[in-house]
Amino acid sequence: MPFVPVNTPLLNGNELKYVSECIETNWVSSEGPFIKKFENAFSQYIGRKCGVAVTNGTAALELAFKVLNLKPGDEVILPAFTIISCVIPILRMGATPIFVDSDPNTWNVNVYDLKSKITPKTKIILAVHIYGLACRINEICEIAKENHIYVIEDAAEMHGQEVSDRKCGSFGDISIFSFYPNKHITTGEGGMLLTNDEEFDEKARWYSNLCFGQGHDRYECQDLGWNFRMTNLQAALGLAQLEQIEDFIIRKREIGNRYDKEFQSLSGVIQLPQKNDGFSENIYWVYGLLSKQKPVFEIMKHLADKKIGTRRFFCPLHIQPAVKKYMDTSTIKLPISEELYRRGFYIPSGLGLSEFDQNYVVQQMKSVLA
Ligand SMILES: *Cc1c(COP(=O)(O)O)cnc(C)c1O
Repeated sequence: MPFVPVNTPLLNGNELKYVSECIETNWVSSEGPFIKKFENAFSQYIGRKCGVAVTNGTAALELAFKVLNLKPGDEVILPAFTIISCVIPILRMGATPIFVDSDPNTWNVNVYDLKSKITPKTKIILAVHIYGLACRINEICEIAKENHIYVIEDAAEMHGQEVSDRKCGSFGDISIFSFYPNKHITTGEGGMLLTNDEEFDEKARWYSNLCFGQGHDRYECQDLGWNFRMTNLQAALGLAQLEQIEDFIIRKREIGNRYDKEFQSLSGVIQLPQKNDGFSENIYWVYGLLSKQKPVFEIMKHLADKKIGTRRFFCPLHIQPAVKKYMDTSTIKLPISEELYRRGFYIPSGLGLSEFDQNYVVQQMKSVLA
């Protein structure tokens, strides 16, 4: 049995055709027709006016905070249970992250805890959708509006997910996506910042393009920017992937539902991901599980011995060594997110997972956990 990686993308549509077109026409840089096409098609799909294609989701987050002019003294409320990319720009810009605990079943941010942490210094709420279920984005946006706070919506794991018939990524003042190969659609590396606000869009474009000027004064830059430009090659991949997104979502849900069904018999030893929380139906970005008894390392080691790839859950931000280097988190206690880290792991669920491989994973999981 060959190795079953935790993720393999599926590149069976027009990917090769569009990428070949870039090479045949010499348009391989961030100039080229696929970028605008991809920006327009993706922002239209999500239901937003503007989209800026960038190098990755982490860059899109950094831009979002910069566009909203995050400054030292400002506070940003965000879940502790998320990727490190969420906190890096906050700390770099000298602002203060305020961490919120998770719900034990959906693994998304606990809205009561979030609400209690608003202060006059709160400038932004970073709402992150985790693993497959949307966070309570409607409530979060209402709370933010009442308190005159911006919302950045991190929908990096949520392409095509819907809440109240609206796509995730269409709620925040600014929203971001990633197109890393484990996301629902990929550009290899890549990301996008979406907004309905033309001023935010223009600023994001400007900062991501070295703050270059216009026309004659192009090389006179009025601020320090970044080169976060996506290439035509990446956008070509993205456009071909986007054409298949509805099928991809169906397939991811098929994989998730299959595991759900097979693992019902293991519910004494593992907690399965929640299928539907009344707000959204799980889109299974990853298929995450919580061990109820066995140490998670032991399970992962057994599966690795059987050539099955797994990953641990996110390390909560308040216990991240990198975060502790920049702020004192010693008094912060967020028991649910700490518990998720201690007990959580996810198993292969990429779009390229064959039925044969999934059968093998199911069989090995049952034998390891029985
Ligand atoms: C993947 C991810 C990102 C970062 O995207 P990259 O393209 O890997 O930089 C940001 N936020 C969340 C929630 C993610 O899952």
